[in-house]
Amino acid sequence: MSIIEVTTDTPESFRNKLYNIDTEGRRHKIYPHKPDGRFYRWRSRLSYLLLVFLFLAPFVKINGYQFMLFNIIERKFILFGVVFFPQDFYIVVLGILTLLVSIFLFTSILGRIWCGWLCPQTVFMEMLFRKIEHGIEGNAVQQRLLDNAKLSPRKVMKKALKHGIFFALSFAIGNTFLAYIIGSDALITIITSPPTEHLTGFVAMVLFSLVFYGVFARFREQACVVVCPYGRYQSALVDHNTIAITYDFVRGEPRSKFTRKDKEALTVQGGVETSAAASRGDCIDCHQCVNVCPTGIDIRNGIQLECVNCAACIDACDVVMDKIKKPRGLIRYASLESIRSASQHWLSTRVRAYIGVWLIVMSLFVYFFTTRDMVEVLVLRQAGTLAVTNANGDKVNFYMMNIINKNYNDMSLKVEVLEPKGASVSVIGDISKVTKVSEKSARLMLSIPADKIIGTDQYVRLGVFANGEKIKELTTRFLSSDFSSTTKE
Ligand code: SF4
Ligand code: SF4
Repeated sequence: MSIIEVTTDTPESFRNKLYNIDTEGRRHKIYPHKPDGRFYRWRSRLSYLLLVFLFLAPFVKINGYQFMLFNIIERKFILFGVVFFPQDFYIVVLGILTLLVSIFLFTSILGRIWCGWLCPQTVFMEMLFRKIEHGIEGNAVQQRLLDNAKLSPRKVMKKALKHGIFFALSFAIGNTFLAYIIGSDALITIITSPPTEHLTGFVAMVLFSLVFYGVFARFREQACVVVCPYGRYQSALVDHNTIAITYDFVRGEPRSKFTRKDKEALTVQGGVETSAAASRGDCIDCHQCVNVCPTGIDIRNGIQLECVNCAACIDACDVVMDKIKKPRGLIRYASLESIRSASQHWLSTRVRAYIGVWLIVMSLFVYFFTTRDMVEVLVLRQAGTLAVTNANGDKVNFYMMNIINKNYNDMSLKVEVLEPKGASVSVIGDISKVTKVSEKSARLMLSIPADKIIGTDQYVRLGVFANGEKIKELTTRFLSSDFSSTTKE
C-alpha cells in the first residue's frame, strides 16, 4: 500500500520488515502502553455493549427461538429471531453479500473502522484480555520487566493468575461461539451431561477454548497482521480519499525533539515558542504514538496494512499536543488527500460504484426477504412408481409431499384437486397439524376417473388450504406410465 511523504533518513525502510519480527525472523512481543483519551473511552463504551450482545445473543429467545443461530451442520439459521430454512439459503447468501458490500463501502470511505471499533478480535483483545493483563502485570514497562525477570514465586503467581483468567475467558468465549453454531439448548445439554454422552460436543468445546486461548494469550496482533483476509484487502479498498487514521506530515514535519529550552519557553515565557521551535514541525518525536500501538507500527510512516484503526495513537498524540500547547489532531481521522491539499473528496468514482452495487444487493435482499413464502409445499411424484388402475377403473399416481411451516404458529393443512374436475386426492399421513417452524412429510394418492384422462401425461392443479383458506396452488404432472415428474407453482 502507499503512502509516505514524510522526510526520514530511510523513508521506505519500514516496508521491508514486520514490526513484530526481528532481523533473525523471531517474533518479538509487543508491549503496548495503555491508551487513555476520548477515542479509547468511546471504544470502551461501545465494546461493552458489543460484549453484552455477543455473550447474550445465543441465549435470548424470541417466540421460543434463539435470537441468533448459525447452525451450519443442520443448515438452520436464525438472524434476529427470524428463522431461515435451507430453502431460504439464497436470502442468507444475499444478506451476507449485502454485509460484505456494506463493509467494502464503509472501508472505502472510512478505512478499517470495522477493525478498530467493531471486530470481535479487537474487542476481546483490547477491551478484555489487554485490560486484564494491565491489571495483573502492570503497565507496559512492568510487563516487560516481569517477562525478563528470573522465575520467582511472584512471577509464577502473576502468570498463573493471568493465564488462569485468560483460559476461563477463552472457555466462555468458545462456549458462546459454540452456542451460536449448535444452539444454546444443545450447549447446555453438553455442559450438564457427562462428556462420554456428548463426546463430539465436548471435544468441540475444548478445541474452541484452546483456539481462543491461543489467539488471545499468544497469537494476538498476528491474527490481524498475518491471518485476517479483510486486512489483506485493504490496499484494494482504500485510496487517497479514504478517511483513515493519518499523521499530518505537513504540520508535523520536520520533526525534532522537545528540548529543555522549548519547555522553558512554554512555562517561563508564557507560551511563546523559541524561534527554532517555530520553524520546525509539531511532531516532537516522542514515540508515544508508537508506544500505544497494539501492532507496533509507526503511523508517521503513512497508512500501513498493519494499522487496525484503533485510534490509540490519536489519543496518545493529543495528550502530547496538550502538553506542548499545540492544537490536537496531529494524528487524526483524515484522508491523505485532505492533508496534502486541504480538500476532501470522499465521494469518489469508486465510492459511487460501491454505493450502486450496495443499493442493488440491498434491494434484492429486502425484496426476497419480504416476499419469501412463509409456508412452502413441494409435491413430487414418487420415484419408481407406475400409474395403477383401481377397482373403479380410475388411474392413480403417488406423490411425496414436503411442507415447511416458517410461521410462529401451528397450521392445519388440507389438499384438494382443483383441476381436472372429478379427480380426488387422499393424504397418507397427518397434515392436520403442522407445528410452528417445522418440516413435515406426507404421501399423496391422486385418482383421476378414466374418462378424464387425456393421453399418457397431463397436468393436475392442486390447492393447499390452511385453516380453511387457500394459501397455495400447485401444478404437477399425472402420468399414466412410468416417467419422472416435476412440480411447478
Ligand atoms: S505522539 Fe505525536 S508528537 Fe509524539 S511522535 Fe507521535 S506524532 Fe510525534
Ligand atoms: S497506528 Fe494508531 S490506529 Fe493504527 S493500529 Fe497503531 S495505534 Fe492503532
